[in-house]
Amino acid sequence: MTSVTRRLVHMVMTGRSGRPRRGLSAAELAVTRHLLVHGPATRQDLGDHLNISYASTSRLARALVDGGMASEALEPETAIGRPRQVLTAVPGARHVVGCKLTGDTAFGVVCDMFGEVKATARAALPEPAEGTVPPAGAAKVVAQLAGKLARRVPTLDGIAVSVGGVVADRTIVREGTFLGWRDVDLATPIEQRTGLPVIVTNDVAALAREQLWFGAGRTHSTFGVVTVGAGLGFAAVREGIAAEQLIDNGHLLAHAPIDPRGPRCRLGHRGCVSAYLNREDMRGSAPEGAPGPATSAGLAEAGRVASAGLAEAGRVASAGLAEAGPVASAGLAEASPVTFAGLAEASRAGNERAGRQLTAAARALGHLVATVAGALQTTCVVLAGEDVAALAAAPAMRQTIDDRLRPGPYEVQRCALEIVTTPLTFTDWARGAAVAGIQHVLGGV
Ligand SMILES: [Zn+2]
Repeated sequence: MTSVTRRLVHMVMTGRSGRPRRGLSAAELAVTRHLLVHGPATRQDLGDHLNISYASTSRLARALVDGGMASEALEPETAIGRPRQVLTAVPGARHVVGCKLTGDTAFGVVCDMFGEVKATARAALPEPAEGTVPPAGAAKVVAQLAGKLARRVPTLDGIAVSVGGVVADRTIVREGTFLGWRDVDLATPIEQRTGLPVIVTNDVAALAREQLWFGAGRTHSTFGVVTVGAGLGFAAVREGIAAEQLIDNGHLLAHAPIDPRGPRCRLGHRGCVSAYLNREDMRGSAPEGAPGPATSAGLAEAGRVASAGLAEAGRVASAGLAEAGPVASAGLAEASPVTFAGLAEASRAGNERAGRQLTAAARALGHLVATVAGALQTTCVVLAGEDVAALAAAPAMRQTIDDRLRPGPYEVQRCALEIVTTPLTFTDWARGAAVAGIQHVLGGV
């Protein structure tokens, strides 16, 4: 990079680029969104899809081409009729950094308008002090990460940060689940450091926005997102609009009852969704009704062995568990966060208790998916997160959904649910934030 371009990057980063980016008008955004989501289109196609006149489409196309957002070229001549102008979005017209914060790391990506990842980077967050990651230090880490990623693209137009928890006004982290935050303004200090527009968003809401443009939203205007990983997460898209904030941080769904004889969650509900699917809840519970272990000392001892093995993808544990039986897997649930991949592996190695726990969790997820689909009135639910693959592979999930959909003897209406499973890496989560950021800098919501 030459010193001139380095200075330009710096100028853009600090907001003194001399190239003010204006947001798009509602109509321009509608056209751009169509081009990004559905690909190149003729003016006629755009007019038909967006219900705007040919004259308006032509004016919008010109404005977008002049603004560098789109390019227009003549379609190759066809046998009949005149060649038509085809409008295509310019991928590099905008770039946004997306950053996902976990409890200890900032995972960053920089994406173009199509959400294509151009570069990735990560940085450690400051050590927590009394259970709280210092917000000012975290803001500095994000700004530095954005600066690093900015050097990989011609210009940078904005930053979007996603966190698990409750976010208000796309600025304030009301409740940062893994960061120990309460009412932390994260956007302002990053804006001050970078001079760029910054939004902060819930991580699952950002994922829903990504899916809205580049995933399930291409074929479904209404869909739900359920994530299973470090915690349970939910998001909803209704008629093409992603809900920015949940009314309950997902509480109503996470604690919906599944089985009155089931294990308890940390809130004391017996057999609720969280008791089966939240790692933190599963830590202290083993499925009830299974042959029980004798003593708590034995449980703790077995737990240490089993959980250590599970942490290493169950290689040690699966053998040990098969011998130790129910004692070990109950202790395993007690001693460390359970991963469903670990349970699946132990189950495959012959541990029946692990198999039962996985089946019970898959059944709970099936009920959860059915409830989300029914309440949202959608035929599409996106399952995401590092733990969903093992759960979705267990037959109990599909069987539960099929049973919930099974019509009665005189019912004629049939419904089929499309379940999209996307195990996510932290880079994928960061990309979700970047796409939410792209929508923001384009002048959307
Ligand atoms: Zn509960």
